[in-house]
Amino acid sequence: MSQTSNQEIVTAFQDEITNIANACVGCGKCYEVCPIVDDAGLGGLNPKVITSGVRDSLTGVAINEDSQKWAQTCVLSGNCISACEYGVNPRLMLTMARMVNSEQTLEHKARLSAGVNSYNSMSKGVKVLSKIQLSNEELKKLGQGEPKSKTKRTSEPEYLFHTGCNVLKTPHIALLCIDIMDMLKIDYEVKGGPESCCGILHYRAGDLKTATRVSTSTINQFSRTGATTVLSWCPTCQVQFTEVALPSFESATNTNPFQMTPFVLFLEKQLYRLKPMFKYRVEKKVALHLHPGVIGLPEAAKKILNAIAGIEIIDLNVKEIGLMSNSLNTLPVLKKDLHLKELEAAEAAGVDVLAAVYHADHRELCAHEKDWSFEIINILEIIAESMGIKRRDKFKEMKLLQDVEVILNDLKNQLYSQNISKEEARLMVQAFIIDEQPLPLKAQRNLE
Ligand code: SF4
Ligand code: SF4
Repeated sequence: MSQTSNQEIVTAFQDEITNIANACVGCGKCYEVCPIVDDAGLGGLNPKVITSGVRDSLTGVAINEDSQKWAQTCVLSGNCISACEYGVNPRLMLTMARMVNSEQTLEHKARLSAGVNSYNSMSKGVKVLSKIQLSNEELKKLGQGEPKSKTKRTSEPEYLFHTGCNVLKTPHIALLCIDIMDMLKIDYEVKGGPESCCGILHYRAGDLKTATRVSTSTINQFSRTGATTVLSWCPTCQVQFTEVALPSFESATNTNPFQMTPFVLFLEKQLYRLKPMFKYRVEKKVALHLHPGVIGLPEAAKKILNAIAGIEIIDLNVKEIGLMSNSLNTLPVLKKDLHLKELEAAEAAGVDVLAAVYHADHRELCAHEKDWSFEIINILEIIAESMGIKRRDKFKEMKLLQDVEVILNDLKNQLYSQNISKEEARLMVQAFIIDEQPLPLKAQRNLE
Protein backbone atom coordinates (compact mmCIF):
# COMPACT_ATOMS: atom_id res chain seq x y z
CA MET A 1 0.00 0.00 0.00
CA SER A 2 1.15 3.50 -0.78
CA GLN A 3 2.80 5.54 1.99
CA THR A 4 2.29 8.72 -0.02
CA SER A 5 0.50 11.44 1.91
CA ASN A 6 -2.83 12.90 0.88
CA GLN A 7 -1.15 16.27 0.45
CA GLU A 8 1.30 14.82 -2.09
CA ILE A 9 -1.62 13.51 -4.19
CA VAL A 10 -3.44 16.85 -3.89
CA THR A 11 -0.23 18.57 -5.00
CA ALA A 12 0.04 16.25 -7.99
CA PHE A 13 -3.45 17.34 -9.06
CA GLN A 14 -2.58 21.00 -8.52
CA ASP A 15 0.55 20.50 -10.65
CA GLU A 16 -1.69 19.06 -13.38
CA ILE A 17 -3.84 22.19 -13.21
CA THR A 18 -0.69 24.24 -13.88
CA ASN A 19 0.33 21.90 -16.72
CA ILE A 20 -3.05 22.32 -18.38
CA ALA A 21 -2.98 26.08 -17.91
CA ASN A 22 0.42 26.07 -19.65
CA ALA A 23 -0.61 23.72 -22.46
CA CYS A 24 -3.88 25.37 -23.47
CA VAL A 25 -3.33 28.01 -26.17
CA GLY A 26 -6.89 29.32 -26.03
CA CYS A 27 -7.58 28.36 -29.64
CA GLY A 28 -11.32 28.05 -28.99
CA LYS A 29 -11.84 24.71 -30.78
CA CYS A 30 -13.32 23.00 -27.71
CA TYR A 31 -15.92 25.74 -27.36
CA GLU A 32 -16.77 25.47 -31.08
CA VAL A 33 -17.75 21.79 -30.80
CA CYS A 34 -19.51 22.04 -27.45
CA PRO A 35 -23.18 21.02 -27.88
CA ILE A 36 -24.59 23.04 -25.00
CA VAL A 37 -23.36 26.58 -25.56
CA ASP A 38 -26.62 27.80 -27.14
CA ASP A 39 -28.76 26.26 -24.40
CA ALA A 40 -26.45 27.76 -21.80
CA GLY A 41 -26.97 31.21 -23.34
CA LEU A 42 -23.36 31.29 -24.49
CA GLY A 43 -23.75 30.80 -28.22
CA GLY A 44 -22.02 33.06 -30.75
CA LEU A 45 -19.32 34.37 -28.39
CA ASN A 46 -15.66 34.70 -29.30
CA PRO A 47 -14.29 31.13 -28.86
CA LYS A 48 -10.77 32.36 -28.12
CA VAL A 49 -11.95 34.75 -25.43
CA ILE A 50 -14.13 32.12 -23.75
CA THR A 51 -11.48 29.39 -23.71
CA SER A 52 -8.64 31.72 -22.71
CA GLY A 53 -10.89 32.86 -19.87
CA VAL A 54 -11.23 29.29 -18.62
CA ARG A 55 -7.51 28.68 -18.94
CA ASP A 56 -6.60 31.89 -17.14
CA SER A 57 -9.03 31.13 -14.33
CA LEU A 58 -6.94 28.04 -13.53
CA THR A 59 -4.12 30.24 -12.32
CA GLY A 60 -6.44 32.83 -10.84
CA VAL A 61 -5.24 35.44 -13.34
CA ALA A 62 -8.63 36.59 -14.55
CA ILE A 63 -12.24 35.67 -14.14
CA ASN A 64 -14.35 35.97 -17.28
CA GLU A 65 -18.01 35.54 -16.36
CA ASP A 66 -18.97 33.80 -19.60
CA SER A 67 -16.04 31.41 -19.22
CA GLN A 68 -17.13 30.60 -15.69
CA LYS A 69 -20.70 30.05 -16.83
CA TRP A 70 -19.47 27.66 -19.52
CA ALA A 71 -17.45 25.73 -16.94
CA GLN A 72 -20.41 25.57 -14.56
CA THR A 73 -22.87 24.33 -17.20
CA CYS A 74 -20.61 21.69 -18.82
CA VAL A 75 -22.59 18.44 -19.02
CA LEU A 76 -19.49 16.27 -19.57
CA SER A 77 -20.38 15.03 -23.07
CA GLY A 78 -16.71 15.05 -23.95
CA ASN A 79 -17.24 16.21 -27.57
CA CYS A 80 -14.42 18.65 -26.86
CA ILE A 81 -11.81 16.00 -26.03
CA SER A 82 -10.98 15.00 -29.60
CA ALA A 83 -11.15 18.64 -30.77
CA CYS A 84 -8.03 19.70 -28.85
CA GLU A 85 -4.80 19.57 -30.84
CA TYR A 86 -2.63 20.60 -27.89
CA GLY A 87 -2.89 17.55 -25.68
CA VAL A 88 -5.37 19.10 -23.27
CA ASN A 89 -8.53 17.35 -22.12
CA PRO A 90 -10.90 20.35 -22.20
CA ARG A 91 -13.54 18.50 -20.14
CA LEU A 92 -10.93 18.11 -17.40
CA MET A 93 -9.86 21.74 -17.82
CA LEU A 94 -13.46 22.83 -17.13
CA THR A 95 -13.67 20.43 -14.18
CA MET A 96 -10.53 22.03 -12.77
CA ALA A 97 -11.90 25.52 -13.42
CA ARG A 98 -14.95 24.66 -11.30
CA MET A 99 -12.70 23.51 -8.45
CA VAL A 100 -10.47 26.61 -8.62
CA ASN A 101 -13.54 28.84 -8.71
CA SER A 102 -15.07 27.15 -5.64
CA GLU A 103 -11.80 27.46 -3.75
CA GLN A 104 -11.64 31.16 -4.56
CA THR A 105 -15.23 32.07 -3.87
CA LEU A 106 -16.33 29.83 -0.97
CA GLU A 107 -15.01 29.42 2.55
CA HIS A 108 -13.28 26.11 3.22
CA LYS A 109 -15.79 25.28 5.97
CA ALA A 110 -18.74 25.77 3.60
CA ARG A 111 -17.16 23.54 0.94
CA LEU A 112 -16.32 20.89 3.51
CA SER A 113 -19.83 20.75 4.91
CA ALA A 114 -21.48 20.86 1.46
CA GLY A 115 -19.45 17.79 0.49
CA VAL A 116 -20.21 15.95 3.72
CA ASN A 117 -23.95 16.73 3.50
CA SER A 118 -24.09 15.60 -0.10
CA TYR A 119 -22.23 12.37 0.74
CA ASN A 120 -24.46 11.67 3.75
CA SER A 121 -27.62 12.21 1.74
CA MET A 122 -26.41 9.90 -1.04
CA SER A 123 -25.30 7.32 1.49
CA LYS A 124 -28.66 7.28 3.30
CA GLY A 125 -30.61 7.10 0.04
CA VAL A 126 -28.51 4.25 -1.31
CA LYS A 127 -28.66 2.24 1.93
CA VAL A 128 -32.43 2.54 2.38
CA LEU A 129 -33.37 2.15 -1.30
CA SER A 130 -31.24 -0.97 -1.71
CA LYS A 131 -32.44 -2.52 1.57
CA ILE A 132 -36.12 -2.04 0.74
CA GLN A 133 -35.65 -3.94 -2.52
CA LEU A 134 -33.18 -6.71 -1.74
CA SER A 135 -32.72 -9.79 0.39
CA ASN A 136 -29.61 -10.08 2.57
CA GLU A 137 -28.18 -12.53 0.10
CA GLU A 138 -28.64 -10.12 -2.79
CA LEU A 139 -27.13 -7.29 -0.76
CA LYS A 140 -24.12 -9.49 -0.09
CA LYS A 141 -23.76 -10.22 -3.80
CA LEU A 142 -23.43 -6.48 -4.32
CA GLY A 143 -20.80 -6.18 -1.60
CA GLN A 144 -23.30 -4.61 0.81
CA GLY A 145 -24.43 -5.43 4.33
CA GLU A 146 -22.64 -7.52 6.87
CA PRO A 147 -21.20 -9.85 7.67
CA LYS A 148 -18.54 -9.81 4.99
CA SER A 149 -17.65 -13.26 3.76
CA LYS A 150 -15.46 -15.15 6.24
CA THR A 151 -14.07 -17.40 3.55
CA LYS A 152 -11.02 -15.59 2.27
CA ARG A 153 -10.05 -15.95 -1.36
CA THR A 154 -6.86 -17.90 -1.86
CA SER A 155 -6.07 -16.18 -5.17
CA GLU A 156 -6.39 -12.70 -6.60
CA PRO A 157 -9.51 -12.07 -8.73
CA GLU A 158 -8.98 -11.27 -12.38
CA TYR A 159 -11.53 -8.46 -12.23
CA LEU A 160 -12.96 -6.16 -9.64
CA PHE A 161 -16.53 -5.13 -10.43
CA HIS A 162 -17.16 -1.65 -9.04
CA THR A 163 -20.88 -0.91 -8.86
CA GLY A 164 -20.49 2.72 -7.77
CA CYS A 165 -23.02 4.12 -5.31
CA ASN A 166 -26.26 5.15 -6.90
CA VAL A 167 -26.88 2.06 -9.03
CA LEU A 168 -27.82 0.45 -5.71
CA LYS A 169 -31.04 2.48 -5.84
CA THR A 170 -31.98 0.44 -8.93
CA PRO A 171 -30.24 -2.75 -7.81
CA HIS A 172 -31.71 -5.04 -10.46
CA ILE A 173 -29.25 -3.39 -12.89
CA ALA A 174 -26.21 -4.23 -10.76
CA LEU A 175 -27.51 -7.74 -10.10
CA LEU A 176 -27.91 -8.31 -13.83
CA CYS A 177 -24.25 -7.32 -14.34
CA ILE A 178 -23.35 -10.01 -11.82
CA ASP A 179 -25.67 -12.58 -13.41
CA ILE A 180 -24.03 -11.95 -16.80
CA MET A 181 -20.51 -12.20 -15.32
CA ASP A 182 -21.52 -15.48 -13.67
CA MET A 183 -22.78 -16.83 -16.99
CA LEU A 184 -19.43 -15.84 -18.52
CA LYS A 185 -17.64 -17.57 -15.61
CA ILE A 186 -15.65 -14.43 -14.94
CA ASP A 187 -13.43 -14.44 -11.87
CA TYR A 188 -14.41 -11.28 -10.01
CA GLU A 189 -14.85 -9.58 -6.68
CA VAL A 190 -17.46 -6.87 -6.06
CA LYS A 191 -17.04 -3.51 -4.37
CA GLY A 192 -19.30 -0.51 -4.32
CA GLY A 193 -21.67 1.60 -2.33
CA PRO A 194 -20.73 4.62 -0.23
CA GLU A 195 -17.71 2.73 1.23
CA SER A 196 -16.03 2.67 -2.20
CA CYS A 197 -16.69 6.22 -3.30
CA CYS A 198 -14.85 7.99 -6.12
CA GLY A 199 -14.94 11.30 -4.21
CA ILE A 200 -17.09 13.13 -6.75
CA LEU A 201 -19.48 14.60 -4.18
CA HIS A 202 -16.68 16.26 -2.22
CA TYR A 203 -15.02 17.31 -5.49
CA ARG A 204 -18.23 18.91 -6.76
CA ALA A 205 -18.53 20.76 -3.46
CA GLY A 206 -15.05 22.20 -4.05
CA ASP A 207 -13.29 20.22 -1.31
CA LEU A 208 -10.26 18.80 -3.10
CA LYS A 209 -8.58 17.47 0.05
CA THR A 210 -11.51 15.34 1.17
CA ALA A 211 -12.25 14.24 -2.40
CA THR A 212 -8.65 13.07 -2.71
CA ARG A 213 -8.71 11.31 0.68
CA VAL A 214 -11.89 9.47 -0.27
CA SER A 215 -10.74 8.46 -3.77
CA THR A 216 -7.32 7.38 -2.50
CA SER A 217 -8.90 5.18 0.14
CA THR A 218 -11.00 3.53 -2.58
CA ILE A 219 -8.02 3.14 -4.93
CA ASN A 220 -6.09 1.44 -2.13
CA GLN A 221 -9.11 -0.75 -1.36
CA PHE A 222 -9.25 -1.84 -5.02
CA SER A 223 -5.48 -2.40 -5.19
CA ARG A 224 -5.55 -4.69 -2.16
CA THR A 225 -7.81 -7.13 -4.03
CA GLY A 226 -4.97 -7.70 -6.51
CA ALA A 227 -7.29 -7.34 -9.52
CA THR A 228 -5.55 -5.67 -12.45
CA THR A 229 -8.79 -4.56 -14.16
CA VAL A 230 -11.62 -2.71 -12.49
CA LEU A 231 -14.92 -2.98 -14.35
CA SER A 232 -16.85 0.17 -13.61
CA TRP A 233 -20.60 0.44 -13.93
CA CYS A 234 -21.02 4.13 -13.21
CA PRO A 235 -19.85 6.67 -15.83
CA THR A 236 -19.37 9.32 -13.15
CA CYS A 237 -16.97 7.04 -11.26
CA GLN A 238 -15.24 6.12 -14.53
CA VAL A 239 -14.56 9.76 -15.42
CA GLN A 240 -13.74 10.86 -11.86
CA PHE A 241 -11.26 8.03 -11.36
CA THR A 242 -9.65 8.02 -14.82
CA GLU A 243 -9.47 11.78 -15.39
CA VAL A 244 -9.05 13.18 -11.86
CA ALA A 245 -8.18 10.72 -9.08
CA LEU A 246 -6.04 8.01 -10.68
CA PRO A 247 -3.66 10.26 -12.69
CA SER A 248 -2.76 12.25 -9.53
CA PHE A 249 -2.47 9.06 -7.47
CA GLU A 250 -0.24 7.46 -10.12
CA SER A 251 1.93 10.51 -10.47
CA ALA A 252 2.38 10.95 -6.69
CA THR A 253 2.98 7.25 -5.95
CA ASN A 254 4.74 6.32 -9.19
CA THR A 255 2.49 3.28 -9.50
CA ASN A 256 -0.17 2.00 -11.90
CA PRO A 257 -2.56 0.15 -9.60
CA PHE A 258 -5.12 -1.06 -12.18
CA GLN A 259 -6.90 -0.37 -15.46
CA MET A 260 -10.49 0.78 -15.42
CA THR A 261 -12.94 -0.39 -18.08
CA PRO A 262 -16.59 0.59 -18.40
CA PHE A 263 -18.73 -2.53 -17.98
CA VAL A 264 -20.55 -2.18 -21.33
CA LEU A 265 -17.22 -1.89 -23.18
CA PHE A 266 -16.09 -5.01 -21.35
CA LEU A 267 -19.25 -6.81 -22.52
CA GLU A 268 -18.52 -5.70 -26.07
CA LYS A 269 -15.05 -7.28 -25.81
CA GLN A 270 -16.67 -10.46 -24.50
CA LEU A 271 -19.23 -10.53 -27.32
CA TYR A 272 -17.59 -13.54 -28.99
CA ARG A 273 -18.28 -15.48 -25.77
CA LEU A 274 -21.65 -13.87 -25.09
CA LYS A 275 -23.16 -14.46 -28.52
CA PRO A 276 -23.57 -18.24 -28.11
CA MET A 277 -25.35 -17.48 -24.81
CA PHE A 278 -27.95 -15.27 -26.54
CA LYS A 279 -30.17 -18.32 -26.94
CA TYR A 280 -33.60 -16.70 -26.76
CA ARG A 281 -35.06 -14.43 -29.42
CA VAL A 282 -36.20 -11.07 -28.10
CA GLU A 283 -38.80 -9.76 -30.54
CA LYS A 284 -38.61 -6.07 -29.74
CA LYS A 285 -38.34 -2.77 -31.56
CA VAL A 286 -35.91 -0.91 -29.32
CA ALA A 287 -35.02 2.77 -29.07
CA LEU A 288 -31.93 3.54 -27.02
CA HIS A 289 -31.51 6.40 -24.58
CA LEU A 290 -27.81 7.18 -24.90
CA HIS A 291 -25.17 9.61 -23.65
CA PRO A 292 -21.83 10.06 -25.42
CA GLY A 293 -19.63 10.93 -22.39
CA VAL A 294 -17.85 7.56 -22.22
CA ILE A 295 -16.17 7.24 -25.59
CA GLY A 296 -17.31 4.21 -27.60
CA LEU A 297 -20.08 3.25 -25.22
CA PRO A 298 -23.13 4.10 -27.37
CA GLU A 299 -21.62 2.13 -30.26
CA ALA A 300 -20.82 -0.81 -27.96
CA ALA A 301 -24.38 -0.85 -26.59
CA LYS A 302 -25.82 -0.99 -30.13
CA LYS A 303 -23.36 -3.68 -31.20
CA ILE A 304 -24.31 -5.91 -28.29
CA LEU A 305 -28.05 -5.50 -28.87
CA ASN A 306 -27.62 -6.08 -32.60
CA ALA A 307 -26.15 -9.49 -31.79
CA ILE A 308 -29.45 -10.57 -30.20
CA ALA A 309 -31.89 -12.31 -32.54
CA GLY A 310 -35.21 -10.51 -32.89
CA ILE A 311 -33.97 -7.07 -31.79
CA GLU A 312 -34.55 -4.16 -34.14
CA ILE A 313 -32.87 -0.93 -33.09
CA ILE A 314 -34.76 2.21 -34.07
CA ASP A 315 -32.80 5.47 -34.29
CA LEU A 316 -34.96 8.27 -32.90
CA ASN A 317 -32.63 11.00 -34.18
CA VAL A 318 -32.78 12.89 -30.90
CA LYS A 319 -29.96 14.94 -29.44
CA GLU A 320 -27.61 12.81 -27.31
CA ILE A 321 -25.48 14.81 -24.91
CA GLY A 322 -23.96 14.56 -21.44
CA LEU A 323 -22.37 11.82 -19.40
CA MET A 324 -25.60 10.54 -17.87
CA SER A 325 -29.06 12.14 -17.40
CA ASN A 326 -28.10 13.70 -14.07
CA SER A 327 -25.15 15.53 -15.65
CA LEU A 328 -27.79 17.62 -17.44
CA ASN A 329 -28.94 19.01 -14.08
CA THR A 330 -27.02 22.16 -14.98
CA LEU A 331 -29.56 22.79 -17.77
CA PRO A 332 -32.90 21.60 -16.34
CA VAL A 333 -35.09 23.14 -19.06
CA LEU A 334 -33.03 21.47 -21.79
CA LYS A 335 -33.16 18.15 -19.93
CA LYS A 336 -36.97 18.22 -19.65
CA ASP A 337 -37.25 19.14 -23.30
CA LEU A 338 -34.91 16.33 -24.40
CA HIS A 339 -36.80 13.77 -22.32
CA LEU A 340 -40.16 14.86 -23.73
CA LYS A 341 -38.89 14.89 -27.33
CA GLU A 342 -37.43 11.42 -26.88
CA LEU A 343 -40.67 10.00 -25.44
CA GLU A 344 -42.68 11.56 -28.27
CA ALA A 345 -40.27 10.26 -30.90
CA ALA A 346 -40.35 6.76 -29.38
CA GLU A 347 -44.13 6.69 -29.51
CA ALA A 348 -44.20 8.05 -33.06
CA ALA A 349 -41.72 5.36 -34.11
CA GLY A 350 -43.91 2.64 -32.59
CA VAL A 351 -41.16 1.11 -30.47
CA ASP A 352 -41.87 -1.62 -27.93
CA VAL A 353 -39.11 -0.49 -25.63
CA LEU A 354 -37.11 2.60 -24.70
CA ALA A 355 -33.93 1.24 -23.13
CA ALA A 356 -31.43 3.34 -21.21
CA VAL A 357 -27.90 2.25 -20.35
CA TYR A 358 -27.27 4.00 -17.06
CA HIS A 359 -28.99 3.83 -13.69
CA ALA A 360 -29.64 7.58 -13.36
CA ASP A 361 -31.32 7.56 -16.77
CA HIS A 362 -33.50 4.66 -15.65
CA ARG A 363 -34.45 6.42 -12.41
CA GLU A 364 -35.48 9.58 -14.24
CA LEU A 365 -37.29 7.94 -17.14
CA CYS A 366 -38.91 4.69 -16.01
CA ALA A 367 -42.06 6.20 -14.40
CA HIS A 368 -43.03 7.62 -17.81
CA GLU A 369 -43.94 4.06 -18.77
CA LYS A 370 -47.27 4.92 -17.09
CA ASP A 371 -48.07 7.45 -19.81
CA TRP A 372 -46.72 5.97 -23.01
CA SER A 373 -47.31 2.96 -25.23
CA PHE A 374 -43.92 1.32 -24.66
CA GLU A 375 -41.87 -0.20 -21.84
CA ILE A 376 -38.96 1.73 -20.30
CA ILE A 377 -36.20 -0.61 -19.21
CA ASN A 378 -32.43 -0.96 -18.90
CA ILE A 379 -30.45 -2.52 -21.77
CA LEU A 380 -29.14 -5.23 -19.44
CA GLU A 381 -32.72 -6.49 -19.13
CA ILE A 382 -32.72 -7.15 -22.88
CA ILE A 383 -29.30 -8.83 -22.82
CA ALA A 384 -30.36 -10.90 -19.81
CA GLU A 385 -33.68 -11.90 -21.45
CA SER A 386 -31.78 -13.29 -24.43
CA MET A 387 -29.73 -15.33 -21.94
CA GLY A 388 -32.78 -16.59 -20.06
CA ILE A 389 -32.21 -14.38 -17.01
CA LYS A 390 -34.86 -12.20 -15.37
CA ARG A 391 -34.71 -9.80 -12.41
CA ARG A 392 -37.66 -7.87 -11.02
CA ASP A 393 -37.37 -4.10 -11.30
CA LYS A 394 -38.83 -3.20 -7.92
CA PHE A 395 -37.69 0.39 -8.27
CA LYS A 396 -39.91 0.89 -11.33
CA GLU A 397 -42.77 -0.94 -9.64
CA MET A 398 -42.59 1.60 -6.80
CA LYS A 399 -42.21 4.53 -9.20
CA LEU A 400 -45.30 3.48 -11.11
CA LEU A 401 -47.37 3.46 -7.92
CA GLN A 402 -46.69 7.19 -7.37
CA ASP A 403 -48.11 7.01 -3.84
CA VAL A 404 -45.83 7.01 -0.79
CA GLU A 405 -48.34 5.40 1.57
CA VAL A 406 -49.24 2.60 -0.84
CA ILE A 407 -45.52 1.95 -1.41
CA LEU A 408 -44.85 1.87 2.34
CA ASN A 409 -47.77 -0.46 2.92
CA ASP A 410 -46.40 -2.87 0.30
CA LEU A 411 -42.99 -2.67 2.00
CA LYS A 412 -44.26 -3.50 5.50
CA ASN A 413 -42.61 -6.91 5.81
CA GLN A 414 -39.39 -5.80 4.10
CA LEU A 415 -39.03 -2.81 6.45
CA TYR A 416 -39.47 -5.11 9.42
CA SER A 417 -36.94 -7.68 8.20
CA GLN A 418 -34.36 -5.00 7.26
CA ASN A 419 -34.94 -3.07 10.48
CA ILE A 420 -35.83 0.19 8.73
CA SER A 421 -38.29 2.53 10.40
CA LYS A 422 -41.36 3.62 8.45
CA GLU A 423 -40.40 7.26 9.00
CA GLU A 424 -36.95 6.79 7.51
CA ALA A 425 -38.37 4.84 4.56
CA ARG A 426 -41.03 7.50 3.98
CA LEU A 427 -38.39 10.25 3.70
CA MET A 428 -36.27 8.26 1.25
CA VAL A 429 -39.22 7.07 -0.86
CA GLN A 430 -40.53 10.63 -1.09
CA ALA A 431 -37.11 12.05 -2.03
CA PHE A 432 -35.74 9.40 -4.36
CA ILE A 433 -38.84 7.74 -5.81
CA ILE A 434 -41.52 10.42 -5.96
CA ASP A 435 -39.69 13.77 -6.07
CA GLU A 436 -36.84 12.83 -8.41
CA GLN A 437 -38.76 13.34 -11.66
CA PRO A 438 -37.15 15.95 -13.92
CA LEU A 439 -39.90 15.77 -16.56
CA PRO A 440 -43.14 15.47 -14.57
CA LEU A 441 -45.56 12.71 -15.51
CA LYS A 442 -48.52 13.60 -17.74
CA ALA A 443 -50.97 14.05 -14.85
CA GLN A 444 -48.70 16.64 -13.22
CA ARG A 445 -47.87 18.30 -16.53
CA ASN A 446 -51.57 18.76 -17.22
CA LEU A 447 -51.90 20.63 -13.91
CA GLU A 448 -49.01 23.00 -14.70
S1 SF4 B 1 -17.44 18.16 -21.96
FE1 SF4 B 1 -19.08 18.56 -23.39
S2 SF4 B 1 -20.41 20.03 -22.40
FE2 SF4 B 1 -18.44 20.05 -21.37
S3 SF4 B 1 -17.35 21.60 -22.43
FE3 SF4 B 1 -16.75 19.70 -23.41
S4 SF4 B 1 -18.17 19.57 -25.11
FE4 SF4 B 1 -19.01 21.11 -23.76
S1 SF4 C 1 -8.30 23.15 -24.37
FE1 SF4 C 1 -7.37 22.66 -26.34
S2 SF4 C 1 -9.02 23.06 -27.81
FE2 SF4 C 1 -9.61 24.09 -25.92
S3 SF4 C 1 -8.82 26.17 -26.16
FE3 SF4 C 1 -7.25 25.02 -25.04
S4 SF4 C 1 -5.89 24.31 -26.62
FE4 SF4 C 1 -7.75 24.92 -27.68
